Amino acid sequence: MRLWLFIAVVMGWAWPAWSGEFSLASPQVYNGEVAVLRWQGEPLSFGVVRYRDEVIYLYPDPTGAVALLPVALDTAAGDYPLLAALVTSQGQTTFRELMLQVAHKTRPEESLTLPERMVSPSAEDLARINREGSLLNETFAGRSPRLWTTFERPVDGPVSSVFGKRRIMNGQAKAPHSGTDFRGSAGTPVHAISHGRVVLVSDMFYTGNTVVVDHGEGLFSLYAHLSRVLVGKGHDVRKGEVLGKVGSTGRSTGAHLHLTVKLLGERVDPLALLAILKE
Ligand SMILES: [Zn+2]
Repeated sequence: MRLWLFIAVVMGWAWPAWSGEFSLASPQVYNGEVAVLRWQGEPLSFGVVRYRDEVIYLYPDPTGAVALLPVALDTAAGDYPLLAALVTSQGQTTFRELMLQVAHKTRPEESLTLPERMVSPSAEDLARINREGSLLNETFAGRSPRLWTTFERPVDGPVSSVFGKRRIMNGQAKAPHSGTDFRGSAGTPVHAISHGRVVLVSDMFYTGNTVVVDHGEGLFSLYAHLSRVLVGKGHDVRKGEVLGKVGSTGRSTGAHLHLTVKLLGERVDPLALLAILKE
């Protein structure tokens, strides 16, 4: 609570009569999804929300301010308080509290049998996997200004595997599915889910030809198993722009697009993001 005390002291504790509403787009979300917090009212010069041990910034948008809150897949069902400190452009401060209800969603389970070399990588492959993991972590740690607006699906095809699916490979429990798989024949165009900047283009052990787009404010999308990549690092992409073609490179058993979404360091369900902020 120390941060709150600090903000209260610095800004001056005040409960002014200025108008505005601090609300959640939906009071209840499932573990692994995204909560959307909005401030509608007086323009803000500063706004933060405390959620569990994280401090999340509110960013100005046409109606006031917005924050996307990642609710990690392993979050237990229950009520989580959200405390907001808001400062108007006139320097008035207010504190608001909301309750976020996290409900538990049971994810499907699947058993796969794969060639042993895919499930138990060699020492050489392990070294590569670790290097690539570090590179991805560094990439996802970047914080740039907001570029995202609304979101759209990356391919037209149906979903073939959902986020969070529990996977048993060759009899061993593995990490839950880190993204959403979309069915698509090889060569199908893959579109950026929103505006952003290409921050990584790489051929990786698990995800094959991979593109990562930074949408700003800690939101990233990763497109995996591409047969071709049509953008380079540093390229500014518009929502819907073609990044590459569907393929089956890396650890994949057939042509599909795997999309991972990272928000403030947490993997979240891409379909939840696409559903709440579509046009
Ligand atoms: Zn996948």
